[in-house]
Amino acid sequence: MRLDGSCHCGAVRFTLESAHPYPFNLCYCSICRKTAGGGGFAINLGGSKETLSIDGGENLRIYQATIREPGEALPHESPARRHFCGLCGSHLWLWDPRWPDLVHPLASAIDTPLPVPPERTHLMFDSKALWVQVRSDPQDKVYQGFPEESLADWHQRLGLTS
Ligand SMILES: [Zn+2]
Ligand SMILES: [Zn+2]
Repeated sequence: MRLDGSCHCGAVRFTLESAHPYPFNLCYCSICRKTAGGGGFAINLGGSKETLSIDGGENLRIYQATIREPGEALPHESPARRHFCGLCGSHLWLWDPRWPDLVHPLASAIDTPLPVPPERTHLMFDSKALWVQVRSDPQDKVYQGFPEESLADWHQRLGLTS
């Protein structure tokens, strides 16, 4: 489906095609929580980078987090590029050169009404803030780290690829 998105101040607008638009993937990692998730998590969708069209791109700012994986002696810069509106600070999408054909818009930046997911995935519980109390349904899945199931796999398993 086609997704239209924007930042809060309207300086950046974008559109893209998404085969994986269900907002089911709740990430509790510290990057998502700090940069986008006032409720303790952020939700990424899956879309096609090739179809991404941007209006107001000169207002974008890009952030690459410094992270340290378990067992790593030194922190390193994440290749993932998080795109924000430089004027109002809205987190808009993530693009990672390791998967150049994909782009991950934040559900919170999308203006198109999104479909309601029949189940949700809660990930990165290892990094969840203590104050965040998760309301999960019985059919939901919870992972301490990253799930093995991709955004595309989830949509395929549930027959929801559009
Ligand atoms: Zn803005
Ligand atoms: Zn995250």
